[in-house]
Amino acid sequence: MKSIDKAVELSAPTTRNVFKRNLTRFAAVLLAALAGLVAVPSAALAAPHQHHDQVPGFYRLKVGDLEVTALYDGTGVFDAHWLNGTKATMDGVVKALQEDPHMLDVVDSGFLVNTGKQLILVDAGAGTWWGGAALGRLVGSLRSAGYTPEEVDIVLVTHLHSDHVGGLTTHDGNRVFPNAEVYVAKAESDFWLSPEIAANAPKDAQPFFQSAQAIAAPYIKAGKWHTFSGSEPIVDGMQLVPLPGHTPGHTGYELSSRGQKILFWGDTIHAQRVQFPHPEVTVVFDIDPAAAAATRNQLLPKLAGGGVLIASPHSSVFPPLGRLRKEGSRYSWVPVVFTDRWDEK
Ligand SMILES: [Zn+2]
Repeated sequence: MKSIDKAVELSAPTTRNVFKRNLTRFAAVLLAALAGLVAVPSAALAAPHQHHDQVPGFYRLKVGDLEVTALYDGTGVFDAHWLNGTKATMDGVVKALQEDPHMLDVVDSGFLVNTGKQLILVDAGAGTWWGGAALGRLVGSLRSAGYTPEEVDIVLVTHLHSDHVGGLTTHDGNRVFPNAEVYVAKAESDFWLSPEIAANAPKDAQPFFQSAQAIAAPYIKAGKWHTFSGSEPIVDGMQLVPLPGHTPGHTGYELSSRGQKILFWGDTIHAQRVQFPHPEVTVVFDIDPAAAAATRNQLLPKLAGGGVLIASPHSSVFPPLGRLRKEGSRYSWVPVVFTDRWDEK
């Protein structure tokens, strides 16, 4: 060992000097830096400012050649009293809520599809017609995603509840999407826009009719309100999927591209943590609860495990996109997970 140390000592004086010089330089830099810190303590040691803004409210992914952007409109909490199920199921919900008070948290959202030829909006959020300050962010989300309301060519409406169409029209009656042609099922339009049905509806339901009529009015006046009653083609590669029950003309829109599919299913589900395990549970907003449950019973088995991407406006998470998995007699939601590699989904 001694001889090796000696050898190192003899052969390495130059290296050692370089190291020493570097060390001195490093110490000088460090001292200068510390001196700087001491000189401006307020800048370096001040409490960090909190930022209360959030990431922009959109999430983009690709379905074949389609660019699909989920647009955040807001968040809310679905009231447990709005759910109808068996006593045993509802007792279970009440108990689960005590352990997990956030299990009925929901988002409201719409979706923008850029086909490469057209810009299609599926549902428009609440605007100022529902949910007060908690909702109505959709246009801001759309702008954050790089688009303007004027660019939207087509709006596909799942149903005429104001949390889905409120964003179409301002409270003073102006069209938010001035160049868009709006499409809605005839059964839906006929129901909500009928003065006779509205006049005979229960008092609690009156605001739904009033808002639907006020929101539709400027598009009807401009000749931009269109109804469909069958399977007429509106957009290439799109299929209409009637999903009656929640409302008379409640409609899903399935778009396909290069073998990939996405279904915009509107209010097929409101409280996914309850209705996926219990598809028979209905909501007080269902015009025909039995039909709404029957629609779920037909649709969910077809979608489970099938790879169809589902756009669910009232998902309990954002982005409100996911797939359905079957677990015994129940279903569960497999959410799309955030990634910035949007073209590799
Ligand atoms: Zn809704």
